[in-house]
Amino acid sequence: MPEPVSATASESVANTTPWPERLATARHEREGAQRWRRRRVNHGAALDFAGNDYLGLALDPRVAEAAAVGARRFGAGAGASHLVSGHLAVHEALENALAEWLGRERVLLFSTGYMTNLGVLQALADGETAVFQDRLNHASLIDGATLAGARSRRFHHRDSSDLERLLARSRAAHRLIVSDGVFSMDGDVADVHALANAARRYQAWLMIDDAHGIGVLGEHGGGCSEGMGSAEVPVLVGTLGKALGTGGAFVAGDAALIDHVTQFARSYVYTTAQPPAVASATLKALEIVRSEPEHRARLNANIATFRREAQRLGLPLADSTTPIQPLMLGDEARTLRWATSLERAGIAVGAIRPPTVPLGQARLRITLSARHTQHDIARLLDGLAQCQREVAP
Ligand SMILES: *Cc1c(COP(=O)(O)O)cnc(C)c1O
Repeated sequence: MPEPVSATASESVANTTPWPERLATARHEREGAQRWRRRRVNHGAALDFAGNDYLGLALDPRVAEAAAVGARRFGAGAGASHLVSGHLAVHEALENALAEWLGRERVLLFSTGYMTNLGVLQALADGETAVFQDRLNHASLIDGATLAGARSRRFHHRDSSDLERLLARSRAAHRLIVSDGVFSMDGDVADVHALANAARRYQAWLMIDDAHGIGVLGEHGGGCSEGMGSAEVPVLVGTLGKALGTGGAFVAGDAALIDHVTQFARSYVYTTAQPPAVASATLKALEIVRSEPEHRARLNANIATFRREAQRLGLPLADSTTPIQPLMLGDEARTLRWATSLERAGIAVGAIRPPTVPLGQARLRITLSARHTQHDIARLLDGLAQCQREVAP
């Protein structure tokens, strides 16, 4: 008599680990390393020093109202992808306004920054392409190159001579240099001029992802490469969910680049266009960024106050002049203890641990906003002083 089919089937897979066991093992390892992340509902009760709403535009009633107007006028959703019937007048207007502001020929909107980087890298790079990446680049840039089937070569953080060493050795048919503008976990800024020089010398293209610099850096908020054009930074990525306070992202460049990305970026082609309310809100946010420099001025004053007082307390500040002000605590458990103590005092900060940052470099990621008052910053510093007294080391 032949064995019943089910018995044979289960015998042939006897060596596989059951899925529940696999998940439990992964969880156990993460928890053991103090790296398990907990999601919390943000009821708006805590004083927020963790977010990226640097100019306070996410909560600006004028931006929220523009979202409402956009939804009433264009509908709750775009209804289709951009290349089908989802590209609405408000998307077109936003692309044009961003292009004009950034001094680029064209801009292409994406639904998120993560999707922008996946799409742009997959459209530009292939197996013949060497992608030169700063060691501390955002995960989406690393993932984008992997998706493209390109080889990523990592150069030392903000070290253009290490980059040039790698470029000189490269035999790749195409070379793309990729860097964050403002590094998201460290707050320091890429030397875009040095990167552009290296690109010119080695016939590479330069792609800057200025997710945290757009709206914040530069005289007009144009980011870390403000004043540089497509000749120096051919591929400029920015996100709208940070300083612009809404959501979505874009790539800016000349018409040939934007046409190419429109055709070849799968994360552009095969996804629904962002809801028109979001584009409408972003248009208003952009108008505020351009016409009210006082928000940037207040943000910069807050950064200066925080750094001065933190230095006085002897806190382990990093070398950052941007709204991202990490306190380098090193150890995962210690970082969690500080964050928990602050949480009890009603203050939210990011507890950033590996694998987001290298081993031994766990940190509190404190972010400042134009919305913070002097009193808010004093409360944060009080909370940090208490951590020093009670939970150190
Ligand atoms: C936040 C961030 C992104 C992702 O943008 P989203 O719009 O949040 O998906 C990409 N790159 C960098 C450097 C970022 O900090």
